[in-house]
Amino acid sequence: MPQYVPMTAPRAALIDGKAIAREVRSLVRAAVDRRVAAGGRPPGLAVVMVGDNAASQVYVRHKRSACAECGMYSIAVDLPRSTSEVELLARIDELNEDDRIDGILVQLPLPEHIRQTAVVERIDPAKDVDGFHPYNIGRLAERNPLIRPCTPYGVIRLLDHIGVSVKGKHCVVVGASNIVGRPMSLELLLMGATTTVTHRFTQDLAHHVREAEILVAAAGKPGLIKGEWIRPGAVVVDVGINRMPDGSLCGDVEFEAAAARAGWITPVPGGVGPMTVAMLMQNTLEAALRRG
Ligand code: NAD
Repeated sequence: MPQYVPMTAPRAALIDGKAIAREVRSLVRAAVDRRVAAGGRPPGLAVVMVGDNAASQVYVRHKRSACAECGMYSIAVDLPRSTSEVELLARIDELNEDDRIDGILVQLPLPEHIRQTAVVERIDPAKDVDGFHPYNIGRLAERNPLIRPCTPYGVIRLLDHIGVSVKGKHCVVVGASNIVGRPMSLELLLMGATTTVTHRFTQDLAHHVREAEILVAAAGKPGLIKGEWIRPGAVVVDVGINRMPDGSLCGDVEFEAAAARAGWITPVPGGVGPMTVAMLMQNTLEAALRRG
């Protein structure tokens, strides 16, 4: 009698960013408690928001509640949309001088009348816990990082957690923005990967994705990466966060079809997103330890 064999496709293992982020935050909390017990002051983070962008408000709320969970001192600098660039720069100058503050985060995007570059460059690089200041990007580019951009740093932490070595692997990054794709490619190079960076002008994206042993998707385009392009057994990290018309969130990768081919995959939500906030806590702790 022939045996019935269920036709279930092999499925990728999920990379549980929520759980890994929780672990990072609890390690940060333990380090903060040790510092305070030894008579030190808690690390301090200033989160600056200009205007009332709805998505920014959600991100800022997560950052502030993570500070509380990690035992950090945090201040909320909420400025009206009408704030001028000069006023914002003056506020940053004050925070640069404030000894209780180890990290300054200015939530992006800023209103159009404020030059983002001027603001990012005004933050003391030692307090630039987003890691976007040209000094910190330069340090990463020269393989001697100081403060590392949170999202790519979080992706590296996820890969480390699942025990995947990047060294010598062919990694493909989809997206080349200053805050995700570009520093991501620098992080992967730092770890010894052979790295391909694709962007909006790339021809034949499918060809590059098919080559990826590790794929990091960060284009902000729902379903851009077709499941059938995924190399069997690949690690798929989906940084994309796209809000759909029904209010749900999805990434840049066709999740179900990709999960049927990949070895590991991050969900959206619950993958890279929580790691970004956890690495912000880690960066603020490290900045405080360096400042003494
Ligand atoms: P961005 O718009 O600044 O950059 C998008 C990049 O994708 C660009 O470099 C562009 O050239 C590239 N791109 C666009 N179309 C492409 C195509 N067809 N093929 C290849 N590349 C293409 O966006 P961003 O700020 O880098 O964010 C990207 C995504 O990541 C967004 O969905 C954003 O919401 C998400 N994000 C998530 C986190 C997180 O914590 N998980 C953090 C930051 C951003």
